Amino acid sequence: MITVDQALDHLFSLVGPLGSETVPLTDAAGRVLANDAVATRDQPPFAASSMDGYAVQNAEAQPGARFTVIGEAAAGHRFDGPMAPGHAVRIFTGAPVPEGADRVVIQEDVTRDGDQITLNDNLDGKPYIRPSGSDFKTGDCLKGPRLLSASDIALLASMNVAQVQVARMPDVALISTGDELVWPGETPGPDQIIASNTFGLKALLDQHGARTRILPIARDTRPALESAFELARGADLVVTIGGASVGDHDLVGDVAADLGVERAFYKVKMRPGKPLMAGRFGSAAMVGLPGNPVSAMVCGHVFLRPMLRVMQGLGAAPLSRLTARLGHDMPQGGPREHYMRAIVKDGIITPEPRQDSALLSVLADANALMIRPADDPARKAGDAVHYLSL
Ligand code: AMP
Ligand code: MG
Repeated sequence: MITVDQALDHLFSLVGPLGSETVPLTDAAGRVLANDAVATRDQPPFAASSMDGYAVQNAEAQPGARFTVIGEAAAGHRFDGPMAPGHAVRIFTGAPVPEGADRVVIQEDVTRDGDQITLNDNLDGKPYIRPSGSDFKTGDCLKGPRLLSASDIALLASMNVAQVQVARMPDVALISTGDELVWPGETPGPDQIIASNTFGLKALLDQHGARTRILPIARDTRPALESAFELARGADLVVTIGGASVGDHDLVGDVAADLGVERAFYKVKMRPGKPLMAGRFGSAAMVGLPGNPVSAMVCGHVFLRPMLRVMQGLGAAPLSRLTARLGHDMPQGGPREHYMRAIVKDGIITPEPRQDSALLSVLADANALMIRPADDPARKAGDAVHYLSL
């Protein structure tokens, strides 16, 4: 058996960046920016007022000073005329500050009478001007590769970038295996269950940048599995679920081998999810996940998410581990690295009492996978432990 880190290294050797494509900004959130995006303008493009008030010359802005209002500057409409001493221009937020003015006195600090204004005694001394280019300047970059957030999209729009070069979405084919499975919404026979982790995995993969195809369920026969693999051709990543143990009906390994999958490894020293295999299927990477719903989901987080990051050009690294304090004492751990379903709240992590790898209700309740290293000694409440955020 190999460790989780060794398994990840194998998996990283099966995948690489997929290249890029251009998409409109409206489709770019959650995608990975492939190249640097460059601003083609300064923002703001002119010195802009940050308040409603009066644009004046700072040197003249003394308490009690009087000005004649000679015009108006609103957002989208600059005041073009010259300003002389004693002149003020009525100005609104976002408007260009007129030439000759270098301060905006907020309207709350002004008494107006016709076209005359008098500054109040207690003046707010701030200039209330956003200098030209104070957010960014022409040529400034948003650097790729970078997973684009909603804030990034706003910034790109402001930079006048209407189309962005993003990493191609990994095409993932999901193969569910088992005579016992039916799809949600179908009527299961007395010995059947609903395929569940298939949908959980699709959701997880799609959330992390993939375009996931759910293939028809492969029954536990060689021909059924072979045709499922056929349907998966063209994918960047083929993921099978179940059938990967050593039972009589666990045919994935054999069929994959017959189809030329070079097996990179088979078993990983982890809980849950020990039976895991991977290899190369044509130009695609192939990963065989265990069938137990929670095992499959845990492996999705621990292995598939980092693979998707590599494919999108974000580099090869395990998921980041966070730290919390253990909520209660724990006995010595087992020989395999254990990803325990747990709840983190206010920095305290508490493993769920039931850790059976078939319990999706427990997984849904959890917001973390607490990691106990292999052969972890007994732990005390308050000890620092690592976890993955779900
Ligand atoms: P296997 O690895 O095929 O022996 O499956 C292990 C367990 O996971 C069995 O109880 C299967 O019924 C169950 N299982 C396999 N695939 C799925 C699936 N897609 N959704 C839910 N349960 C599954
Ligand atoms: Mg099975």
